[in-house]
This record gives sequence, C-alpha cells and structure tokens, in this order.
Amino acid sequence: MINRSMFSLGNRRSVIRDIFEYGAARKAQIGAQNVFDFSLGNPSVPAPETVKQTLLQLVDQTPAAELHGYTTAAGDRHVREAIADYLNRTYQADAQADRIYLTCGAAAALTITLSALVCPGDEVVLLAPYFPEYAVFVRQAGGVPVVAACPAPAFVPDMAHLAAAVSPRTKAVIVNSPNNPSGVVFTAEQLQAMSDLLQHKQAEYGHPIYWIADEPYRELVYDGEPVPYPTRYYDNTVVCYSFSKSLSLPGERIGYILVGSRAAEGADLYAAVCGAGRSLGFVCAPALFQKMVPACLGQTTDLSVYKANRDRLAGALTHMGFTLAQPGGAFYLFMQAPGGNAAAFCETAKQFELLLVPSDDFGVSGYVRIAYCVAPDVIERSLPAFRQLADAYRLHEKRG
Ligand code: PLP
Repeated sequence: MINRSMFSLGNRRSVIRDIFEYGAARKAQIGAQNVFDFSLGNPSVPAPETVKQTLLQLVDQTPAAELHGYTTAAGDRHVREAIADYLNRTYQADAQADRIYLTCGAAAALTITLSALVCPGDEVVLLAPYFPEYAVFVRQAGGVPVVAACPAPAFVPDMAHLAAAVSPRTKAVIVNSPNNPSGVVFTAEQLQAMSDLLQHKQAEYGHPIYWIADEPYRELVYDGEPVPYPTRYYDNTVVCYSFSKSLSLPGERIGYILVGSRAAEGADLYAAVCGAGRSLGFVCAPALFQKMVPACLGQTTDLSVYKANRDRLAGALTHMGFTLAQPGGAFYLFMQAPGGNAAAFCETAKQFELLLVPSDDFGVSGYVRIAYCVAPDVIERSLPAFRQLADAYRLHEKRG
C-alpha cells in the first residue's frame, strides 16, 4: 500500500494552486490580458544583468566536467566562504563558511533544518499568518505545529500569544520577516522582545529553543531600513535564505542554511544539517547556480518596480475604502475581506476577473493576499475591477 499521508498531500492541491489553475483556464477563455492574477508569488521583474553575464562567463570559461560536476554535499567551499564574507561585511552576522549548507531554495533549507532539529513529538511554533507549507514541513519532520497569532490589524509578534504557545516541548520557532502573506516587516524592537522571551523560556525549561529565520524576502523592503539580522539578536539561530525572490530565480532552486556561530550544539547541529540533507537527498545544490552566487551577492532585481506597484495599489485600495496591513516588504498586500468571509469575498472578486487568495490557509481568517509582483500595467488595468469590487461591498471612498 502506498503512503496515505503523501497521497493526500499530492492529491489535494493548495488553495493557491487551485486559484492559479482557475486563472490559467480563465485566461485561455477570455484572454490573459483580461484576467488580473494576483495569486502567485512568482516574480515578474527579470533577474539582474549580472546573473546573465556571470552565467555566460561560467559556461564559456569553466571546463564542462567542473561546471556540471558534483560539488561537495554542503556546496562549493569557495561559494560558502563568499557568502560568509558577505554576511559578515553587510550585517556583522558572525557567519562561518563551515556552518553554511547550500540548498535548493528556502523550501529545502526549511525541510533540512526541521529534520535536523526535530525529534518525534517536538513542537514548532508558527507565527500566524504563516506560509502554509510550514505545517507540511514540520509534520514531515515528525514535529507538531503550534500556532501563535500575530493579531490583526498590525500582524506583528505578540509576546503574550508567543509565551502561551511555547512549552517544554518547543524545539523551534519559525520567524518570517518580511512576511508572506502579510507584507509586514518586524522591527528590531520586536525581534529583541522575542529574543528576550525565548531566552527566558530556554532558561526555564533548561534546553535550547531554536529560531528558524525564513528569509526569502530579506532584501525586498521599500521604506529605507534594512531588515535586522537575526544572529545579532539571538544565539540559537538558523537562517534559511533563498535567491528565489531577491534575484528573481525561483525556478533555479538555490539558497542556503546558515547555522549561527553561537548556536547551542552548533557543530552537532551543522552535522545534523548535513545528515538531514543526505537523508532527504538534498546534497549538492545545482552546481552552475552555486558558482553564480559569489558574483551576485548583494545584487537584487529592480526593486523599484515592486515599490511602485505597492505604492500605486496600496494607495488606490486604501482610497477605495479597503483596509490593509502595513505593507513594508515582500510583494504582498494583506487586505481585510469586507464582510469577514475571505472565501466568499474571493468568489465575488472572480466576477470582476480579480484572482486573490483567501487567508484561511495562512492561519488567519477574514483577509485576502494580493501578490503584487506583477507587471505594472496589470496593476493599472486592475483598478477599475477593484473599484467594482468595492462598490459590490458598498465601501466608501476616503476623502482627501
Ligand atoms: N518561505 C516563504 C515565506 C515563501 O514565501 C517561499 C516561497 O514563496 C518559500 C519559503 C520557498 O522559497 P523557495 O522558492 O526558495 O523554495
């Protein structure tokens, strides 16, 4: 007999995928330009020119056997050194090359990290709203997801809720900022408050609680301040990073794990990361894209496009009378569903060819996620449809 839990995971599409498939069918019916698809976090801005130039140079100048050959399981040493240097120069992260493991994006970084940390029955705290795959990854590692709400309308960590969610069985907390789906960026003060609380809980329970920082949106912030680096706030940190969004390379599957240099049992944890990578079959991340990394560290896709999209759409929706979470980063708006029923609101939105994602799978009810990583003209052309949606819910324009 086949594994039933894997069968049901594979057989049941996620809500986001459902909407995406609906969109594909609808585009075939009425033309792609007539459907306003805000469902997927698939970057529309091309990768920076450095990516192309670096790849061309690598293909042209590296002997094929070396270019396409296996690297060490954890990734090319020279690449890991370049990442550590970059993190230390940029964030004073205290990173070490021999605590870095290159992965197929953030998804593999998370599954490896969770497998390395979680023992059967351990709890992993998710801050809601959260990326729905976290619950899948935690269960696959043998853990139990426990949700701590970041309450509406600010969606920032709440110490009372976090304290209530942490128990003697807590092995880790997953922290995602800039956040998918809310777009909220956690401040240094909020990180410090979480750090204080977790340190207190570690002392009380007498064992480490790890902070898994899931950071595929680290560079996607639009209001000036860089995102605080987690190893500077908390010793027992594991960073899961991805180049999927910063360099617009989601299909190439490249990212890394950084085990903090001051993490408890850090050498053993890194060995367990290598073991988990081995047992999951995630050894040697794509070699060509590993080799591309050193030349592209610190580069980003053209973030001004996302900023302009955010400003235009958030401004227009607020003016129409919708209510949004503070959209500081990533490329998502999190909008209150008038009437409180997110699924019903998304169905109504479909009548105006607007594809939005209800918040329920993100662990929050009554909101929708709008992925604004689309071409700017999609934003512009969608505004009359949003206007009709606002009218359908009798929202009133804000004056001034
Ligand atoms: N974590 C979050 C919060 C995400 O939004 C995503 C992808 O959208 C991932 C992890 C997975 O990223 P990757 O494509 O690098 O595996």
